[in-house]
Amino acid sequence: MFAKLAGRLQEAIDRLRGRGRITEEDLKATLREIRRALMDADVNLEVARAFVESVREKALGQKVLESLTPAEVVLATVYEALEEALGGEPRFPTLKNQNLWFLVGLQGSGKTTTAAKLALFYKGKGRRPLLVAADTQRPAAREQLRILGEKIGVPVLEVQDGESPESIRRRVEERARQEVRDLILVDTAGRLQIDEPLMAELARLKEAMNPDEVLLVLDAMTGQEALSVAKAFDERVGVTGLILTKLDGDARGGAALSARHVTGKPIYFAGVSERPEGLEPFYPDRLASRILG
Ligand code: GDP
Repeated sequence: MFAKLAGRLQEAIDRLRGRGRITEEDLKATLREIRRALMDADVNLEVARAFVESVREKALGQKVLESLTPAEVVLATVYEALEEALGGEPRFPTLKNQNLWFLVGLQGSGKTTTAAKLALFYKGKGRRPLLVAADTQRPAAREQLRILGEKIGVPVLEVQDGESPESIRRRVEERARQEVRDLILVDTAGRLQIDEPLMAELARLKEAMNPDEVLLVLDAMTGQEALSVAKAFDERVGVTGLILTKLDGDARGGAALSARHVTGKPIYFAGVSERPEGLEPFYPDRLASRILG
């Protein structure tokens, strides 16, 4: 994950190794390299600045200039800063007796796949999920979820073309009651880009169904772009948490490292393969360790 960023950070720190004491200039040069590595990984400018500043402060606080192992001191401070940028403590959606979650996001972000992954994940934890294919305009999107549902053994309620939010809510409630389903995962409509009709439709559906969580699915490969998408969704429908997909690909890391700061939302899960099993809780500390080798 984030192989290039990982390599650059390690290189910057390695340059301090075996040096005994370092000078202020050495530290400055290292911080400059770290900043460049972050920028090249498409990390948000402000996040990169704050990151480097926190590494500098922490390193000076630990008297890196007087230390005989400056590389280790800087490594530890970069680790801490990475963990912080990735969100600090791991966070999860709140689970109650009865749960209704929306999945929102652009077409292609991995929303439908993620809906199925979440269903499988929580089924494994003893929940009884019901998937809802809620794209009222694209039968192909509903079909895709139906096939995934069959594969993982989770029922799928399909909305009808042009079905009203009120009717969807009624049918979902009825089905959940009949089959005793306690985790309803609504795969909402996705479009190739943000457009007003989509946002208006999502807002109406949200009003009718009053979800406990609105999970925004973001393609980590799209970097900063993903975060402007997040802003737009949050403004119109209110997002409670993020799921980053395609972290198994060659994403540079910018989205993951900037998401918390730019959107103010926690990252709950990471998509790490195309398969229904390819979903992992998002652990900032483990990811920071992986990045630093
Ligand atoms: P949607 O249009 O947002 O519903 O996106 P899909 O769920 O159809 O996913 C779009 C493509 O991304 C599909 O080919 C998925 O198999 C793929 N995909 C989704 N999540 C992941 C992931 O975490 N890793 C990888 N490698 N591919 C993913």
